[in-house]
Amino acid sequence: MTDSITMNAPVSAVEQLLLELPDLDWITDESRVARLSQDFAWFSPVLNRQLKDKRADAVARPRTEEEIRALVSACVRHRVPITIRGSGTGNYGQTTPLAGGVVLDMTGYNTLQWVRPGVARAQAGIRLGELEKQTRPTGQELRCVPSTYRSATLGGLFGGGFGGVGSINFGPLAAPGNVLGLRAMTIEAEPQVIELRGAEAMRMHHLWGTNGLVLELEVGLAPAHPWLETLVSFDAFDAALAFGNALAHAPGIVKREVAFFASPVPDHLAQLSQHLAPGCHAVLSLVAESCEEPLAGLAAAHGGQITYRKTAAEVQKSNRTLMEFTWNHTTLHALKLDKSLTYLQSSFVPGKHVEQITEMESLLGGEVLMHAEFLRNLDGLITCSALQLVRFTTEARLDEIMRIHRERGVRINNPHTFIVEDGKAGGDLPPEVVALKRRFDPQGLLNPGKLRDWPVAA
Ligand SMILES: Cc1cc2nc3c(=O)[nH]c(=O)nc-3n(C[C@H](O)[C@H](O)[C@H](O)COP(=O)(O)OP(=O)(O)OC[C@H]3O[C@@H](n4cnc5c(N)ncnc54)[C@H](O)[C@@H]3O)c2cc1C
Repeated sequence: MTDSITMNAPVSAVEQLLLELPDLDWITDESRVARLSQDFAWFSPVLNRQLKDKRADAVARPRTEEEIRALVSACVRHRVPITIRGSGTGNYGQTTPLAGGVVLDMTGYNTLQWVRPGVARAQAGIRLGELEKQTRPTGQELRCVPSTYRSATLGGLFGGGFGGVGSINFGPLAAPGNVLGLRAMTIEAEPQVIELRGAEAMRMHHLWGTNGLVLELEVGLAPAHPWLETLVSFDAFDAALAFGNALAHAPGIVKREVAFFASPVPDHLAQLSQHLAPGCHAVLSLVAESCEEPLAGLAAAHGGQITYRKTAAEVQKSNRTLMEFTWNHTTLHALKLDKSLTYLQSSFVPGKHVEQITEMESLLGGEVLMHAEFLRNLDGLITCSALQLVRFTTEARLDEIMRIHRERGVRINNPHTFIVEDGKAGGDLPPEVVALKRRFDPQGLLNPGKLRDWPVAA
């Protein structure tokens, strides 16, 4: 299907694609193309300023490998840039084309291939919520999902995500074993399809669709539990943080999520306001229903009060889950209330994380509002990642706040840049990642401008 053609440069090349591939599902309507060229980069005032007007010339939504192959081949022959998109819930303009061209929307390529004990394989465009619906009957669920699991795709999680709910057990997605392998297509006139396993597959992870088009992913699964969702509320910052830390460490309490919200973050969660008294500090958790008693005991020992409690059946019936108040959903809820806020992403040193969080609160409290997520790091150690809310004033002050964190040993995964190396990757790309880029995208057509050495052609 082809909408009426209204495109910007390079018009002739993209027009040629439309003529060559008339049976492909094309979107050329200007407002739809504009929408499908954006993600959640608007969380950052810096990225919003830089990216809000960038867009593709057209969007294609292929449904089969043959359609993807035909599109890739035609783009290479006409030298049209390709920006791969899952559901566009990324935060760094990852799916926003800087050089026009085609947005390749993968959501039509979405079949589950198989589920086995501990592992599943699916096409990259499957939504994570849909994938879990299909693994649950086997008693299994995904090991770590972003709070956007309802709409986010498997390929998008791999290409642009980090981890999320479940990372308290399994660490980030990058931890060996969470992704076992993938099948990817090269960006060539005669595209090749190649299976990569283990560490080699991970060289495409969090590269924002710049060094390979992932067709299928094989991912580790975890045993599914009926999860009890709770909020425990506290009067004191230290008690809440200590409880979160104790719960995260408690080896006998089976859990999927532990998040710490320092005051006034809970005041920004309007939909939960009935359960969060103004000015409180809170810990949000998902623990196995069988572990409710030890959870309640631990909360009481830290002076906390359980103010919200929903069983798995209640969660399913209401279709409201606390998972959608964690990770960057906390930021989203806060931004709905206060548009002047932005956020940071940082990681703390395992074992020193409580001390570092407390220090940052005393240095920057009031301007930087602490929201920390407990998780295991790549070595399996319990620590925190934080997605602090920031009362934004100027870009210079934002840089200063990041510097203050770095000077105190807190790692900043800068969410205010659209260059891969300047964000979570932090520094130069490893040579093996660059080699994969050259192998899979020899003409540099994938998401140009996102890797430092592959700028947008002048
Ligand atoms: C409210 C909110 C909460 C969030 N919470 C989390 C969280 O808890 N954890 C987390 O990790 N992230 C989180 N994110 C970021 C994002 O939602 C996730 O990373 C999500 O998994 C991205 O999936 P997507 O399908 O929307 O990907 P997209 O945004 O469409 O794509 C992300 C990147 O992956 C690339 N890509 C997509 N598909 C492919 C493919 N098949 N082959 C190669 N590259 C591909 C794209 O080019 C892009 O660079 C959050 C974002 C928001 C807005």
